[in-house]
Amino acid sequence: MTRRYAGIAWTGEGYRVEVVDETGRRAVEPSGWGGAQVAELIAWLRDLDGGPTPAVVLDSTNGLLDGPMTAAGLEVYRLDPWQLPPRPRFGSVPAERLAEQARTAPDALARVTAEGGSLTGRAADYAEAERRSAPVLAALSAAGRYFEHGDRSTPRVALTFDDGPDPVHTRQVLEILDRYGARASFFCVGHHVAAMPDEVRRIAAAGHELGSHSWSHPFLPDLTPDQVREQLDRTAEAVARVTGETPTRFRPPYGALSPEVLAALDGYPTALTMFDVDSRDWTRPGPERIAANVLNGAGPGSVVLMHEGAGDRGQTVLALPSIIEGLLERGLELVTVGELAASPGTDGERPLDR
Ligand SMILES: [Zn+2]
Repeated sequence: MTRRYAGIAWTGEGYRVEVVDETGRRAVEPSGWGGAQVAELIAWLRDLDGGPTPAVVLDSTNGLLDGPMTAAGLEVYRLDPWQLPPRPRFGSVPAERLAEQARTAPDALARVTAEGGSLTGRAADYAEAERRSAPVLAALSAAGRYFEHGDRSTPRVALTFDDGPDPVHTRQVLEILDRYGARASFFCVGHHVAAMPDEVRRIAAAGHELGSHSWSHPFLPDLTPDQVREQLDRTAEAVARVTGETPTRFRPPYGALSPEVLAALDGYPTALTMFDVDSRDWTRPGPERIAANVLNGAGPGSVVLMHEGAGDRGQTVLALPSIIEGLLERGLELVTVGELAASPGTDGERPLDR
């Protein structure tokens, strides 16, 4: 039984997939998939005839597939920039290059696990970027361009949902929010916005806030300044095409920044928006645990991190009613991040230049 590798590249249109066997022979014709077809792509890989299920090979500019794919039991590997030729300004290196690199140097691949997430094995890089960013972030915070939570005497909380929209979970989250008259903020990825404009329209029509969460969920410190700006510009355009409004908030994937990324974003009319309560829903610890993480951590002024896209977010959906009820019982109003930031008593955030 020979091993097979499925290189998966992202482009402005969706995913390109190239599957090769151990000898470098194409196992199947290359194929293209839309951003809303991840479940179909997973099923296709599992059912691929003629050999074992291919190992999936992504690069560090793609944080959208490893979650659903590891959860589905696929073997997922990540290639990092120093192993690959330079990427284009927009898009990953081609799928055949990813597959070929994996085939010829399989020992250099980093295995991505469900527990470790997209950045499995890169904790040191992450910590280094965080350490180097600290002084810049302190300056941005002082200038009101970095928002983690609102005023602690304001009886309001902002729930935020990252990585969407999603063909299944967005509607479920919206339905629950509507049931309680709650508003929230959705930090969407451009790749999904372009593929699922109807879901974005639903979010906007229900009065929620749309923020940007990059195009392909990359580890931003791996990107050149041009690539960073392209991720933001394309996502802003994709959102504006659907809603008529450009997002004014940006949440970096993994919260990962570097002085170079921050310099690339200098002058952007966007506020960096983080959170002070992590539901840790992406680890899928069960709905009760997710609800407890939020309810134990949240208080007046909190910004809560949750996810509604790029994976099976069924647990988040199940946890949401208890989360909302628990917060409402404490007299907390559920608002968007923009509303929280504009609440009386919240200082340190200036209105942004549009
Ligand atoms: Zn994310």
